[in-house]
Amino acid sequence: MGRSSKDKRDIYYRLAKEEGWRARSAFKLLQLDEEFNLFKGVRRAVDLCAAPGSWSQVLSRKLRVKESSEEVKIVAVDLQAMAPLPGVTQIQGDITKISTAQEIIRHFEGQAADLVVCDGAPDVTGLHDVDEYIQAQLLLAALNITTHVLKPGGNFVAKIFRGKDVTLLYSQLKIFFSTVTCAKPRSSRNSSIEAFVVCQNYSPPEGYVPNMSNPLLDHSYDVDFNQLEGPNRIIVPFLACGDLSAFDSDRTYPLQLDSNKEYEYLPPTQPPIRPPYQQACHLRKNNLLAKEDSPSAPLEGALSTMNL
Ligand code: SAM
Repeated sequence: MGRSSKDKRDIYYRLAKEEGWRARSAFKLLQLDEEFNLFKGVRRAVDLCAAPGSWSQVLSRKLRVKESSEEVKIVAVDLQAMAPLPGVTQIQGDITKISTAQEIIRHFEGQAADLVVCDGAPDVTGLHDVDEYIQAQLLLAALNITTHVLKPGGNFVAKIFRGKDVTLLYSQLKIFFSTVTCAKPRSSRNSSIEAFVVCQNYSPPEGYVPNMSNPLLDHSYDVDFNQLEGPNRIIVPFLACGDLSAFDSDRTYPLQLDSNKEYEYLPPTQPPIRPPYQQACHLRKNNLLAKEDSPSAPLEGALSTMNL
């Protein structure tokens, strides 16, 4: 496969490199902002599950222009390390841990955030039920951490998989926010069950004490939330967002988009700094992978010579 083939297949991947975004996901947040005006008046923002950092880049570029740069504080959290970004403080940590919430609060010097975003995704297994379940757990962990750090009236945006238990998640979110909308940006492929919940006006129930548990997803309930009726059934509006003239993420476009401009291949803006596949690439590049015809050269042998 040629280097330009992904550029051809995925217009947002290519535009991300042209505009200097670390990942194509940047367009999802930009298109969500177009629809919901999320960045208005935001001085303190949290980007959960931020690596490699394209959403943090969007926050850094947009917020630090709107407000005076020194007043803007952006905290990015991820399990993985991330290359630095202007005006973004990084925490390498787990969003399911209370200590991470405490660290965010410390960075804001006790003040609450105006906006929390989360594009969190676990490593996909391909087993849909498992993937949906883990994604839901991650969303609830993000919601939990949000209840510790978001100011009343603040907004929360998170990736959601529209699987069979999605109504349960909507119900959870509606407890904490007066408006919950499910949005699908143009840059998110139609073929993907991914969408984004835009939760506006944080207003926790009176007396609510933030904690890190998520009892509703332990599957000890036996209610089918999709069958509930009347006031018990929560229906969340679904909205497609992004300008209709924006590129369609499921289409293939020619490499030369503009007839006056020659197509030029660009490398990714920020290659991963410590990707989990680094070791495999090293072994492959140096011809150290165990070969089928030489079972006596196992992977362990190769690893020990590398002293990893
Ligand atoms: N929004 C990012 C961007 O625009 O560059 C892309 C995020 S990527 C799709 C999902 C990220 O979720 C991964 O970097 C992964 O490490 C992170 N993640 C998954 N589980 C996490 C957890 N429990 N705590 C923190 N980060 C987590």
